[in-house]
Amino acid sequence: MLGVKICHTCKEDLPLTLYTTDNKTPDGLCIHCKRCYAEKRKNWLNAKPSRREKVKRDRRDYYQRGLRQNKFNSAIVAYVRIMAPAVYQRALDSIKRAEGESE
Ligand SMILES: [Zn+2]
Repeated sequence: MLGVKICHTCKEDLPLTLYTTDNKTPDGLCIHCKRCYAEKRKNWLNAKPSRREKVKRDRRDYYQRGLRQNKFNSAIVAYVRIMAPAVYQRALDSIKRAEGESE
């Protein structure tokens, strides 16, 4: 049947929206449903404390990189606004135009 798939773990017939994507499978969807996948991942993480620590560390690094990038972007915007008001105004106008087009 179209639009459903049997989960390898719970063996239930579930709609495709309950599967995450996986580019290693022929149909592009994970062989486990989201619920089973979350359960498996939780077990996998809890099996070794070092795995949980690594995930935590990666998440923190990712967040801090984002913060650094945001600070950097803000600094550039502030600099351009003061040093080149015409450029700043042009950038604002182009953003406004792009937003107007998407609506
Ligand atoms: Zn399942």
